[in-house]
Amino acid sequence: MKTFRLGGVHPAENKISAGSPIREAALPKQAIISMFQHIGAPAVPVVKRGDTVKVGTMVGEPGKGLSVPVFSGVSGKVNKVDAMLDSSGLKRMAVVIDVEGDEWEESIDRTPDLVRLGDRPDLTPADIVAKVREAGIVGMGGATFPTGVKLSPPPGTKATCVIVNAVECEPYLTADHRLMLEKPDQILVGLQLIMKAVGVDKGYIGIENNKPDAIRLMQEKAAGIQGIEVVPLKVKYPQGGEKQLIDAVIGRQVPAPPALPIHVGAIVQNVGTVYAIYEAVMKNKPLFERIITVTGKSVSNPSNLLARIGTPMQQLIDEVGGLPADTGKIIGGGPMMGKALLSLEIPVTKGSSGLLIMNDKESRRATPQPCIRCAKCVAACPMGLEPYLLAKLSKAAEWEQCLQNDIPSCIECGSCAFTCPSHRPLLDNIRVGKTTVMGILRARAAKK
Ligand code: SF4
Ligand code: SF4
Repeated sequence: MKTFRLGGVHPAENKISAGSPIREAALPKQAIISMFQHIGAPAVPVVKRGDTVKVGTMVGEPGKGLSVPVFSGVSGKVNKVDAMLDSSGLKRMAVVIDVEGDEWEESIDRTPDLVRLGDRPDLTPADIVAKVREAGIVGMGGATFPTGVKLSPPPGTKATCVIVNAVECEPYLTADHRLMLEKPDQILVGLQLIMKAVGVDKGYIGIENNKPDAIRLMQEKAAGIQGIEVVPLKVKYPQGGEKQLIDAVIGRQVPAPPALPIHVGAIVQNVGTVYAIYEAVMKNKPLFERIITVTGKSVSNPSNLLARIGTPMQQLIDEVGGLPADTGKIIGGGPMMGKALLSLEIPVTKGSSGLLIMNDKESRRATPQPCIRCAKCVAACPMGLEPYLLAKLSKAAEWEQCLQNDIPSCIECGSCAFTCPSHRPLLDNIRVGKTTVMGILRARAAKK
């Protein structure tokens, strides 16, 4: 069975919410719609205190340069436009809305009817890309890169295939798995739309073989569709990394940055993003809600919730039975790549794939011991880096050395820290180094 060739680890899967059908989370009393939900320039608020908004009303227009619009996930009155705490740990601009009722923009098609590609022969590639941009869609696997930009390959490049990332290799997370079981037809139309937008006739859906029901269903549904292939993959973390998935599915290796997947002809989209594209293009629905897994070993009712963007995390925890008494840490995302949350008032954003409540025992970190030079971290690294060295150089603030040893290529997967027998905080150190080096590179580019 196919997989990527370099490194990788096998953390315990703990997919305890996999059997839990998607259900709608209750509306919050107050929603906090952040203007910083994507990579690039923040959105700029276009509403003010006292304004009335509906579900799907634009509350933030794209900022200058790389940016996307932001839409309200609730109806009601704008309470304030102010700096609010978000998942970055910083207070940043947001629109705060007091929720009244649940009134949607009339332009959104709320019927459950499936709209197939053949029902819209009028759609051109440019129409599809424009709709994706206007709907504020970003990579929903966590990367939050503006999708409209990804669907417009730079001059000199040509896409040869689209790969749907349905791997969901992070332990605990099951939102993408449930989406495939519950919305397979819509996902397939979404993939066809992307293929049409970028002018390719080959589309793959990569799914790890720990989701046999999703593989079976997607294969059955895709059987009559020309050019679409479901690719079962051997379970190995971090197969959901873009470069690892491309290697696993089509056997091509993306060179080091600044090379992109498009340089080997691939456009990769997370399965949640593909569904959002279907909804935007075929149902005229901007991105204002998403599926989020709320889970943990001590949680009473681990769930996959369809939550409006702007809903405070506390409310989602209430939905799954409240915070367990033995809570040790709350993570936004999964245990490998997620980050600890500072407050439960932090709202759901376009990139929120999971909320993991770790108990005391799980969240306790072992005391780091000296490096024993076993090279296990090197063997585990899917990017062929030397994590022990990068961590050491980062700690010593040797930024030029970090750059020479290719720290920008780190995908922050945490495989090195997971495998280290000395429990070295490798990822923590490398993240600091990577952030600093990327800042230095940006400053140098701005001076040119
Ligand atoms: S976090 Fe970075 S250095 Fe560590 S294994 Fe992943 S890619 Fe390699
Ligand atoms: S895995 Fe840990 S102990 Fe082994 S070389 Fe890497 S940092 Fe050192």
